[in-house]
Amino acid sequence: MSEADRAARAKLRVGIPKALNVWTTHQFWLGFFQSLGLSPRNVVFSSDTSDEQMREFGSGRGTVDCCYPVKCVSGHYGELIFGQKRKIDILFSPMIYSLASFLDGHAMDSLACPRVMAAPENIKAGFLREKDVFAENRIAHVAPLVTLAEPKLVPRQLFDALQGVVPGLGIEETARAVEEGYATLAAFNENLRARSREILEWCARERRPCVMVLARPYHMDPGIGHEIEADLQACGYPILWLQYFPTDPELLNWIFRADLAEGLIKHPFDIDDVWPSSYSANTNEILWGAKVAARVPWITCAIRLASYECGMDQPSFTPVQQIVERSGTLFFSFQELDSTKAAGSVKIRVETISYYLERNSPGIIEAKLRHMDPACPLLRRPVSADLPA
Ligand code: SF4
Repeated sequence: MSEADRAARAKLRVGIPKALNVWTTHQFWLGFFQSLGLSPRNVVFSSDTSDEQMREFGSGRGTVDCCYPVKCVSGHYGELIFGQKRKIDILFSPMIYSLASFLDGHAMDSLACPRVMAAPENIKAGFLREKDVFAENRIAHVAPLVTLAEPKLVPRQLFDALQGVVPGLGIEETARAVEEGYATLAAFNENLRARSREILEWCARERRPCVMVLARPYHMDPGIGHEIEADLQACGYPILWLQYFPTDPELLNWIFRADLAEGLIKHPFDIDDVWPSSYSANTNEILWGAKVAARVPWITCAIRLASYECGMDQPSFTPVQQIVERSGTLFFSFQELDSTKAAGSVKIRVETISYYLERNSPGIIEAKLRHMDPACPLLRRPVSADLPA
């Protein structure tokens, strides 16, 4: 890279809408752009989804999509275009076709929701309707189709999209940057999984219940998931997101020991016993999370979040509920979450969940422990249902 290119890249500002599958891939993009020589301060994400964001920056930019999480992306685009103190040069909005999932190799495929994948082109249209807002603000809209589940294809996809936008870009350095992106994402995921394991160890040691969230990545966005899990945590129940459940083989073999012994599954990540058409990465992970929640003794409650009864979510509602409830684990579902947080009704439901958790958790832990091997890797000494609470 020439000195001139290096200097130009150091000044380049990239804005990324913090929406949809960016919630579980943001570290990939940070690692990728930093490896190309962009300053971390110049890779900016839009803020959490909010009514104000939509009102101020996305109003009048709506397109045809009726799916709420996708509609909200207009506000993120507008904030990146109109709401920055220092103008961005690139609005980078990847059309993520497939996701790198921890279930890769154990599911039919790892595809993103098609509406999520197509969202960048859809939302962009709202900013071209009367005039080309991108051209007017000298911002390049870059929306490459990216197959994160197929790492070998990614360098070419990103090189083709960014060539001519990132000064002096070469294919070999793009490949190195992609490797850096995957490594950064893996390190971030491992860190969060280690923290989830710490929560589980504490629950096992103290015989305390925790709650598993079964939801899509965008429900981590306070404006989409309405922080329902935070309200539950404030009641004293630690929260585990399925996306960051620990994947240590020792722990997973303990959780799925009976299923493996009976030959129901060949590997702890298998989900074909409950979900044969395993094409969607996020749906696959939700089904796997339901199996985990059903088995882990200290997960005494699972909450399912869904924004819109779409064709992706609808078929999984009943299986997920049945998997969790058949184990005796509490199950609560918040469906059709939309823009307005119905604060009153969410508060009442959180109070209800908290009441059931307090009343039923000791019995649920005891009942689930009876099915588990006492040699639990979360504890140094064996655990059994007969230990005093
Ligand atoms: S899974 Fe459903 S609600 Fe979520 S983005 Fe896709 S279409 Fe919308």
